[in-house]
Amino acid sequence: MKKIFLLVSLLAINTQCFCWGFYAHKKINYYAVFLLPPQMLLFYKPHIDFITEHATDPDKRRYAVAAEGARHFIDIDHYGKYPFEELPHQWKDAVKKFGADTLASYGIVPWHIQTMLGRLTKAFKEKNFSSILKNSTEIGHYISDAHVPLHASENHNGQLTNQKGIHAFWESRVPELLAEKKFDFFIGKAVYIKDPQKFIWERVLESANAADSVLKFEKKLSMQFPGDKKFAFEKRNNLVIKQYSSDYTIAYDKMLNGMIERRMRQSIFAIASFWYTAWINAGQPDLSSLSKQSFSENDLKEFEKLNDDWKNNKAAKGREHE
Ligand SMILES: [Zn+2]
Repeated sequence: MKKIFLLVSLLAINTQCFCWGFYAHKKINYYAVFLLPPQMLLFYKPHIDFITEHATDPDKRRYAVAAEGARHFIDIDHYGKYPFEELPHQWKDAVKKFGADTLASYGIVPWHIQTMLGRLTKAFKEKNFSSILKNSTEIGHYISDAHVPLHASENHNGQLTNQKGIHAFWESRVPELLAEKKFDFFIGKAVYIKDPQKFIWERVLESANAADSVLKFEKKLSMQFPGDKKFAFEKRNNLVIKQYSSDYTIAYDKMLNGMIERRMRQSIFAIASFWYTAWINAGQPDLSSLSKQSFSENDLKEFEKLNDDWKNNKAAKGREHE
């Protein structure tokens, strides 16, 4: 009986979860800090725990804020075929052509990242401690979502091809099993991005282009792999859950030829480079004077409320997911 309930809740998770798993989001934000130049590192490094832990805040907000969901993806194949020339990259032109409601229903991640970049640049100009940290952390989330192939496809959870669950498989199960042991996160240095709009659209188009392989390879592997070896019951947080087996996960990662590691690395590089670009565009403010500041009472209350609301919502829906 218990197993049946847990299986049901796992499937519910798979249809609800549209982002890098919490594990990968945290890792990505964490590693991005180390690409920064010394003048920024002196501020970011002491706050690395915040930047890591709060990497998932935008996902937590999805339950409370209706407009939040659209900021995490773009179902770009709704607008035709690669490279989707029908869809203007300028927000104003896209609104003129399709209307804001249509854009919101098919996702707005590339545009929202530019909004976030504006907010972060302003925060640096004002030397606003709280706003710099919150916007750095959250832009990290949206940038990494833009690197996930299934965030750029209408078939985002394999629901159109009988592959439900593939979303969390690609972005949660594989990194959780392999990132620590096998992935290399030594990346180098952040760079200044001259044209952030062009940069992020290129990443989104790469994601869209890769979505096909993500789906096709899993389908192919599923047909080759013995049915009873595809899933396994494994213990997690004192619960027994059904998930893709380790062997199946390793075989899938091998078929993708390092794609997930590559997209994690590119996310890390892009995040650090967006932080750096915002700081340069704000006139390279001296951050050393901010190091001794801390979050206000109101900020702390806001973080607590976000987390409590998310937990209550999760409990209400019977989910056991992190
Ligand atoms: Zn997300």
